[in-house]
Amino acid sequence: MPLLPALTLYRKKWLVSYGMLLAGLLIDVDHLLADPIYDPGRCSIGFHPLHTAIPIVVYNLLMLFPKTRLIGMGLIIHVVLDAIDCQVTGGIWYTAG
Ligand SMILES: [Zn+2]
Repeated sequence: MPLLPALTLYRKKWLVSYGMLLAGLLIDVDHLLADPIYDPGRCSIGFHPLHTAIPIVVYNLLMLFPKTRLIGMGLIIHVVLDAIDCQVTGGIWYTAG
């Protein structure tokens, strides 16, 4: 009997990780548009098209709906991690303008 909750939990966890992975991959497509693709000194927030204010508002809206919540959550985690990276490496939260 304990197998059933374990399986349900595992399935849920798998879905969460997969949803977030997928969302993270989706958002980083815009990194490929940049030149150079990866620059450790650059802050991606406010620089890449999918890392700006309007898309971030959309990611928050995705969190409101159960079907898109995981994607929204994954995208927001991605943006937050990118912002923390900017803070740690450059002392800024976003690239202005
Ligand atoms: Zn990013």
